[in-house]
Formats: sequence, structure tokens, C-alpha cells
Amino acid sequence: MSQHDQNDEGRRRFLKVAAGGVAAATILGTLPRMAQAADLPHLSPSDPTAAALKYTEDGSKAMGKKAPNDACMNCNFYQGKAGAAWGPCQLFPGKVVASKGWCASHAVMI
Ligand code: SF4
Repeated sequence: MSQHDQNDEGRRRFLKVAAGGVAAATILGTLPRMAQAADLPHLSPSDPTAAALKYTEDGSKAMGKKAPNDACMNCNFYQGKAGAAWGPCQLFPGKVVASKGWCASHAVMI
């Protein structure tokens, strides 16, 4: 085996180990987030940021909506699962919002 072949073999081994490490880190990084979503506290409408954005858990009564069916569940910032009553929102990390809720930052999904 030539020096060139040995270098190629070493590179291949390095890339396999690196790819495996990235895959493991991705899986390990995702699992805690999935487990946490169900355990996160509900965002309180009296939270200062939530209050400033007029967040309500019942979006059907919210004033200022652009469309009658606007709600967290169809907002671009909502990260909850379809059909779930609560889910994470990118604007309120560490909390979950009501899927039927609404706030003034509602953004229509593209
Ligand atoms: S940004 Fe969207 S998902 Fe978050 S609270 Fe406001 S309406 Fe709900």
C-alpha cells in the first residue's frame, strides 16, 4: 500500500467517525427537546411580554385579528403538533401556548 493509499484510508476513517459523531449529537440534542415540550409550563396571559402582545388562550375573542380564524395553531411561530392543545412558540421559549390562542405577533404561515 502506497503512502497515498494510506492517507486516503485515514481520511475515509476520519470522515466515517466524524459523520457518526454528528448523527449521534443530532439525535441526542433532539431527544431532550421532544421530551420537554409536554412538560413546559403554559404561557400566562399576564406574563409581561404576553400581555404586551395581547396574548390570550382563547383567540376566538381576541380583538385585532387580521382574519377570523387566526390562531396560534396556524401561526408561523407555532411549533406544536397538529391537534395538540398546547405547543411551543418561537416567541416564548421555555413555555407552551394554547393552540387556540392568539397574540398580536400572529404571522400567517407561508
Ligand atoms: S406568535 Fe403566533 S404562536 Fe406565538 S403566541 Fe403569538 S399567535 Fe401564538
